Amino acid sequence: MEYKIKELIQEGKTTRTFRLVPLEGKIINFKPGQFVMLTAEIKVEKDNKLVKRAYSISSSPQETYMDLTIRKVPKGLMSNYVMELKKGDIMNIEGPYGRFIFEKKMKEIVLIAGGFGVMPFRCMVNYIRDKKLNTKITLIVSERHPNDTVFREEFEKLKTKSKNFNYFITYTRVEKNPEYGFVGRLDKKKLSKMIKDFKTPYYFSCGSLGFIKSVKDILLKQGANKEKIEVEGY
Ligand SMILES: Cc1cc2nc3c(=O)[nH]c(=O)nc-3n(C[C@H](O)[C@H](O)[C@H](O)COP(=O)(O)OP(=O)(O)OC[C@H]3O[C@@H](n4cnc5c(N)ncnc54)[C@H](O)[C@@H]3O)c2cc1C
Repeated sequence: MEYKIKELIQEGKTTRTFRLVPLEGKIINFKPGQFVMLTAEIKVEKDNKLVKRAYSISSSPQETYMDLTIRKVPKGLMSNYVMELKKGDIMNIEGPYGRFIFEKKMKEIVLIAGGFGVMPFRCMVNYIRDKKLNTKITLIVSERHPNDTVFREEFEKLKTKSKNFNYFITYTRVEKNPEYGFVGRLDKKKLSKMIKDFKTPYYFSCGSLGFIKSVKDILLKQGANKEKIEVEGY
């Protein structure tokens, strides 16, 4: 399905949100947490190569547009290609896919993101806000550097407005983190300060394979219910 870029929003230094509207009809029906496949013909050396990559939908399903928030990775084919696209250009999208989905029955959730793993969580958080659900949310983000942080202002605003939303960031490549106090990788000590009760919530963890494995190991050791942990690795 073809989508037109309606707006480009720079998020931090290396990340951009592509706000998309379908060329025809409505945006696809999707559930909070799902992803789409983006396809493009990209010139690699002399030949055109058909490249296909997965991107989480970062906007709420309640919106009339769809946001994909893409971080540039060094020498990455798709992520560098999209950074050249302009407003009005077309993106080819298929989906939705994935079983990493927030469900209304989950009354308390902890969302743990490593780097660009935060994208599906922005979708979930905004869906819960739009639907005015009473879900208690703790969002925990591990980022390299403040320059990389995405959606921070949006989440901080929500934190001041909603007693049901808590937000923590740890930075792994700074000396000090005056705003948040957390520096370094997420470990048992940090998670225990951020999560009061490990047993009750449903967990979603998204990031690199190493990140989600280490987070899951800590959660299980701290008494989280295995059946309530969902992970998505990039
Ligand atoms: C379910 C899911 C959801 C995702 N959601 C998002 C999202 O919301 N936002 C987001 O930014 N990303 C997301 N990703 C990651 C995304 O799909 C891409 O993997 C990412 O954008 C990199 O793609 P690329 O084509 O730019 O890089 P690639 O061309 O695939 O390269 C990736 C890395 O590998 C290195 N590399 C490539 N080829 C070689 C080689 N031959 N030898 C050595 N190194 C090499 C490159 O230097 C680069 O650093 C998601 C992934 C999954 C699975």
